[in-house]
Amino acid sequence: MDEKYCPGCFSSTGLRKILYGMPASEPDPDIYVMAGCTPEDRSAQMQCIECEWEGTTAAVRKATRARRFITMGEDLKGITVIKKLRLSHDALALLQESEIWKSTLGQVAGFTAESIYGQEGKLKQYWESYWSSAEEMRSDLMQNMGGGIPINVIDELVGIVQKLNSTT
Ligand SMILES: [Zn+2]
Repeated sequence: MDEKYCPGCFSSTGLRKILYGMPASEPDPDIYVMAGCTPEDRSAQMQCIECEWEGTTAAVRKATRARRFITMGEDLKGITVIKKLRLSHDALALLQESEIWKSTLGQVAGFTAESIYGQEGKLKQYWESYWSSAEEMRSDLMQNMGGGIPINVIDELVGIVQKLNSTT
């Protein structure tokens, strides 16, 4: 939880506290680096032994927040993230389990949600697509008569994707 990341290389293992002056005993090398007795500049508080970055603990906090924002989706002050809607295997699996699917395309042998909207599906052009809103996604999927897919199936899929997007 309190893992810290280097602002220079984002390493989580390279950061050390800089010790100035002569320590009384041998400092733990996993925590400290020694700067010696007479460094001209003592403003750096931290150093990375992997990329030689040096700087303040404030910079480390900033990099750590940025890293957590990128990898864990944690909020970062001043940044608003708009998650775009897109297809996923989860969404297609849910579509196939839906009542609407079962009462329509589910009745047709050989049709699966993946065989239509998946990476190798009949309408695979949608797999790589991103949409800013449910309306945009819906109107895109409705093009060319929806590729023959019933409107209520398209609506179901849009609803599923929207729901997954808001919970992750
Ligand atoms: Zn580093």
